[in-house]
Order: sequence, then C-alpha cells, then structure tokens
Amino acid sequence: TDGSNVKVVVRVRPLLPREKGSPLLVQMDPSTQCTTINPPSSKPTGSSDNQAKRNLEPKKFYFDRAFYSVDPNSPHYVDQQEIYNTVGKEFLDHNLEGYHTCIFAYGQTGSGKSYTMMGDDENAGIIPRTCRDLFNRIDSLASENMSCTVRLSYFEIYNECVRDLLATQKKGGSGGANVNNKSAKLKVRESPTDGPYIEDLSEYVVKSSDQVLEYMALGNKCRSTAATKMNDQSSRSHAVFTLTVKQVHFHSDTDTTEEKVSQIRLVDLAGSERANSTGAMGERLREGSNINKSLTTLGRVIAALSVPSSLTNARPIVPYRDSVLTWILKESLGGNSKTAMVACVSPTDYEETLSTLRYADQAKRIQTKAIINQDIVS
Ligand code: ADP
Ligand code: MG
Repeated sequence: TDGSNVKVVVRVRPLLPREKGSPLLVQMDPSTQCTTINPPSSKPTGSSDNQAKRNLEPKKFYFDRAFYSVDPNSPHYVDQQEIYNTVGKEFLDHNLEGYHTCIFAYGQTGSGKSYTMMGDDENAGIIPRTCRDLFNRIDSLASENMSCTVRLSYFEIYNECVRDLLATQKKGGSGGANVNNKSAKLKVRESPTDGPYIEDLSEYVVKSSDQVLEYMALGNKCRSTAATKMNDQSSRSHAVFTLTVKQVHFHSDTDTTEEKVSQIRLVDLAGSERANSTGAMGERLREGSNINKSLTTLGRVIAALSVPSSLTNARPIVPYRDSVLTWILKESLGGNSKTAMVACVSPTDYEETLSTLRYADQAKRIQTKAIINQDIVS
C-alpha cells in the first residue's frame, strides 16, 4: 500500500480577448510555487473596519505546483507539454506499475479545464498526450512474454444521471446515424471487490492512440450536440473518460502468469460557479441544484476526507453516496488510487478564483491508499 496525498496543482490561463485590459489578479512565484491572489483595486476602500481591511489583503496559497500560463512571453510560462510532463507522465508511470490513477480538473466555466484536459489541435492536453504516450510505452513493453490490452469508456453525469457518450456506436456499424438518441439512464452499482461501477456502460478495446482519439471525438460530439440544444450542457455536466490497461506477463522461470489491471481516469468537471449560483428558475433550477448536488457533495467529501486519518475517530462519515459523481469517484477520492486535482483559474475573477483556491487547499490534505492491482492467474 502506498499512502500519499492527493497531488494538487493550480493553473492560471491567459486573458481571453473579451477580458483584454482587465487587471491580472493572480501571481505565481516559480521558486516557492506560491500562488497569490490580489483583490481588485476597484473595491470600495473607505471603510475603516478591520474585517474590510483583511478582505483587501492579498491571499497566498501553496500547492504542489503553480502553473503560470498567462503570458507565453514570460520566462515562467508553462505550456501543455510541461503540464503533461509534471502531472500526466508521472501518473502514466504509476498506471503501468499497476496503480489506478485519476486526474480531475476543477474550476469555473471558462477557466481552462477542457483546454488542460483535452486541449485543441495545436495544443493537445493531458488526455491525448496520455493516450499517445500509453501506446508508445505499450509498444516498447510488448514481447513474447508480455501483452497489453486497453479498453475505453466515456460517460457524462448530467442532472445526477449517467449518460454513455459512446452508446450509439455499439449498435453494429450504423455509424452514428442516430447520434444522441436519448440514451437510457445508467445505474451505478457497487462491487465488493472493485468498488462502484456503471452498469451496462459501453467499453471498447482500442489498439492505438488514434483509435482512442476517434472515440473521444465521437463522445465529445455527443456532448456538444446536446449542448446546443440545452444551454451549454457541457459546462453543466461532468465528463469522465476511463482507460483500463491490462498487462499480462508470463514468467517462464516460475511458469506463472501475472495480470495487472489498472485504470486511468480523466475527469473534466462541471463549472464550479454552479455550486454558488442562485436565483435560477424551473428546469434551470433543477439542473443547477443537481449540479450543485454533485459539486457540493464533492466539497463535503473533500472536507470529510481532509481530516487527518490519525484522527479517524474524529473523521465524519464520508458522504460518497449522496451524489452520482462522488459515488463513482469514491475510490479515486479516498481509496485505491493515486489522484491529482488540477485547479483551473481565471486571472481576473477574484471571487471565483479565491473560491477555487480554497477548495483546492482543502483537497491537498486528502490521503489515498493506492495498491498495485496484481494477480497471479495461473
Ligand atoms: P472550461 O473548460 O473550464 O470551461 P476552456 O478550457 O473551454 O474552459 O477555456 C476557456 C477558453 O480559454 C477557451 O477559449 C480556451 O481555448 C482558452 N484557454 C484556456 N486555458 C488556456 C491556456 N492555458 N492557454 C491558452 N488558452 C486557454
Ligand atoms: Mg469545458
């Protein structure tokens, strides 16, 4: 067993065209990894009471890494490759050792979660880089005595319902003719050995990174097709992409076959501002409160898990089953997994950035207990 803390990194994105001229409120010190957020100076300052003064002071946070991606001309600018090298690569190494891993991106809508996880054509994010690297590594590992298979699944959680983003591809080669047929709500079940899983979720064996990326694109299309119909669903849903790597190793000396099965879980969460939003009506309210439910439950789970395990008597019950997201991520959050959180922030939004940094600050106290998932099968 390898008990270690959730790795927490923060990334600040560049100003968007519409934000041009806005003050940059986030600073990072590459030598200490300190992230500082300054309140906007336009706040009224007339008050003499101490509380108001304290609210105007810069606030400092320390994470495993502070990634400054504001200005490509800065010597400290961090690009997609460096993010992959410091977060993705290490986790892929762990996967091939047989550990489950999970990397999730948290932050308000527009903070750079999808850019970080997926990226675009010129600037691939963690997911495509992980896939490419995975198959390169598999090719170099494969031998007479060693084989690897990779399976993939992709689903989203929207309004506390699980939707298979690759379901339509299963119906033998109809080639996405009926994309986005209202796929059935899938159920979360819990296996005594492997923890929670989704019943009837489609899984595909993939043989190359190009094939993975094709599935990924199909799934994303399924997400965005719905999004245009339903008020930017993609910012309201949690997308969970999973690769399962099975390594079969024959040891000729002992005449035994050993299997390692590990999962790579890559999660693009719904915009965290939903957790704070108020005043929504009707369907919006239901959406809001359900997304709220997954994200606020995630917050409560993180809060419960951040109580040190040496104080187990004091640790509150962890409410994993209170939302679909936390139930499904149970092992990733507090169990058998090596886990990283990428907190994505805007350089100009004081309230949301502060709230994300506080959330991340709590997450870094969580410890998980990853084990190598290995069996002698014959
Ligand atoms: P989210 O998924 O959190 O809603 P996006 O990843 O879609 O946010 O990012 C919002 C916008 O900012 C997009 O246009 C994206 O291309 C851009 N962006 C985000 N992060 C970066 C970055 N590090 N470098 C360049 N552009 C970025
Ligand atoms: Mg997004």
